Amino acid sequence: MEITKKCDKMNLMKKFFVSTAIDYVNAPPHTGHALEKIQADVIARYHRILGEDVFFLTGTDENSIKNVRAAEKEGVPVKKWVDRIAKKFYQLKKILNLSFDDFIRTTEKRHIEGAQKLWRVCQKDIYKKKYKGLYCVGCEAFYKESELINGLCPEHQTKPELVEEENYFFKLSKYEKQIKKIIETDKAKIIPETRKNEIISFINSGLQDICISRSNERAHGWGIDVPGDPSQKMWCWIEALANYITALGYAKNSKKFQEFWQKNKNKLHVIGKGISRFHCVYWIALLLSAKLALPKTIFVHGYLTSGGQKMSKSLGNVVDPFELVEKYGTDPVRYFLLREISPTEDGDYTREKFEERYNADLASGLGNLLARVLTMAKQLKTQNSKLKTTTQNANLKKEIEKRWEGYKKSLESFKFNEALAAIWQMISFCDKYIERERPWEKSDKQLLIINNLLIALSEIAKMLEPFLPETSEKILAQLKTKKSKPLFPRLGT
Ligand SMILES: [Zn+2]
Repeated sequence: MEITKKCDKMNLMKKFFVSTAIDYVNAPPHTGHALEKIQADVIARYHRILGEDVFFLTGTDENSIKNVRAAEKEGVPVKKWVDRIAKKFYQLKKILNLSFDDFIRTTEKRHIEGAQKLWRVCQKDIYKKKYKGLYCVGCEAFYKESELINGLCPEHQTKPELVEEENYFFKLSKYEKQIKKIIETDKAKIIPETRKNEIISFINSGLQDICISRSNERAHGWGIDVPGDPSQKMWCWIEALANYITALGYAKNSKKFQEFWQKNKNKLHVIGKGISRFHCVYWIALLLSAKLALPKTIFVHGYLTSGGQKMSKSLGNVVDPFELVEKYGTDPVRYFLLREISPTEDGDYTREKFEERYNADLASGLGNLLARVLTMAKQLKTQNSKLKTTTQNANLKKEIEKRWEGYKKSLESFKFNEALAAIWQMISFCDKYIERERPWEKSDKQLLIINNLLIALSEIAKMLEPFLPETSEKILAQLKTKKSKPLFPRLGT
């Protein structure tokens, strides 16, 4: 009886699907990967708090040539290599406190079957032809000569390789008008507007049919076979994009696929700016060809730089998320990436900036306020039972309402930094309230003032929940017991 009731409830709940990009496993994750996963995690947690039935998906893209080359360079069998690196990506769950529901690897059976099914369903738009093109292995994509900068890939600043083969092609040109309309009318909404405009101008430059396979030779025998032609492997992008539905059980047309993809309007992809074309054009085209539902929103974030430069092995400025968390803890890392880094522009990490944020906002701002209020609350000669859970203070009521409103608005438009700013405005409101009221000097109003502060802190904890889940929990626990324990010990300089 209980179980059926629960099932009924789940069926009635609004569904929400959110995915990150799936990452190449040519190298272990860096903090730029962490940024995207954390952004998606905040969205997933927020929608769960709203009472929605959330499916949060992430994973790894394992069939690309760059993975093969990385394994060969290390002298490790490809399968062993992708297993090893995929494990590192999975471990982000624990260190970053990610709440994803599923982790798909594109070497899994469910993915291979789903990707091949999608190919077959799109067959009417697929043909074979001889082709010559410039391929960047870093991007795993062909470039037109006109798209190169001084003959180099705009993303990797490397010279693309000349490829001449007979391959399968997908009739992207056929969908040009339809895709343009979908993007222009926000049927699939691209956020921010600047990325949407980039995509529209890309479409306006004319969509050409795309090469979607490669010879076994070029693929080094690694990847997913083209259905009906084992001499060719599927282009990794064409099958990697399918992960969003193969993870939901597209191959077997499962209930989950129907519920979270086909019947659900609330589907969000969180991706980096370098791969917006694949998602906003190619993925939409595949879905149109297969007559499947489209995503509702594609949120495009910028890149995380390190000391003003793109993170790269050769520059030695790669920020390792495992080291960062080991040194500072999970929530400070989540906080920095969400507060300091603009959600849609490039943002920069330096140790100085990180520690400044930590000390000023976490140790002094939030941590200090909690400790101060708890110390005062402990000194009160009253029982906890006399404390109220609602405030009569009009100013505080107004402040709480205003901040919640700004917070929700910011979160719904993916402005994580602004949502956090709203919380910190409330923290500073409380600091000023303490300075103004000086509760320790007022024996008659002391209880009331401290009570108001406790209420404000519990609102702050609730707002922090999607961002800093562990800290939010700790605050609520300390408010209950009135036992103060430092949230963020100050970092020495
Ligand atoms: Zn490239």
